[in-house]
Amino acid sequence: MWINVISLFPEMFKTILDYGLINKSIKKKLLNINFFNPRDFTDHKNRKVDDYIYGGGDGVILKAEPLIKSIYRAKLKMKNNVKLIYLSPQGKKINISLIKKLMLYKNIILICGRYKGIDERIINNFVDEEISIGDYIVSGGELPAMVLIDILVRQIPGVLNKISSGNTDSFFNNGLLDSPNYTRPQKLKNLLQNKVPSVLLSGDHKKIKTWKLKQSLGITWLKRPDLFKKKKLTQKEEILFNEFKNSYLKKNNFLE
Ligand code: SAM
Repeated sequence: MWINVISLFPEMFKTILDYGLINKSIKKKLLNINFFNPRDFTDHKNRKVDDYIYGGGDGVILKAEPLIKSIYRAKLKMKNNVKLIYLSPQGKKINISLIKKLMLYKNIILICGRYKGIDERIINNFVDEEISIGDYIVSGGELPAMVLIDILVRQIPGVLNKISSGNTDSFFNNGLLDSPNYTRPQKLKNLLQNKVPSVLLSGDHKKIKTWKLKQSLGITWLKRPDLFKKKKLTQKEEILFNEFKNSYLKKNNFLE
């Protein structure tokens, strides 16, 4: 996957480029990231790229011309199948189905806004999709772009190995949350709930798989009822969920 980022602050990305899966993907040549700074594409003597907003109001926005030049430069080596995204609080919120659609593109350009945003004509003439990380405002598109890059990179075939496998992670786990995970030691001193569930120590993989599915169903029901409502349960899942629900209600004194 090839990602070109248009940003006034490319240095902010250094941390994600130097660590973890993104760093590994670059080294394995599964990912290519380049940066384009609109300040390199302005004729202004002080490299100014913002201006006041027509009609008044506080603040400034990024001017169109340096962004247009950045977009052309960013597109130069990307032949076809390019998706141009503007990170924006007004965009579609990131979710699995959006990520799956984005994974169909080999070439992605990300525009990071700053200040009060960008000239609307960039959105109208160049942007294929506006994407948001949630209903709140951060100061620039760089953090949202980093979040999106991290999510996409985890989906590139060959990036995740068995150890960090993503298909049991929440949401990717058939629309359910991940089941609880434990590691050594088997008992922790001075804790009220100090034991690892015995099934996980049994070595019986079939039983463990069933236990994990039951937990995922129950935890999704408890923590994310909105997700649970959307899930169509199979007959087996229905049985496991009812077992979880009954024992939960009993434990919490809802049932005699
Ligand atoms: N005035 C803009 C609005 O209300 O829609 C917000 C501007 S914000 C301070 C500056 C930049 O941060 C935006 O241009 C956008 O690139 C980025 N940004 C802020 N919040 C975001 C969010 N929730 N998701 C994605 N990008 C966001």
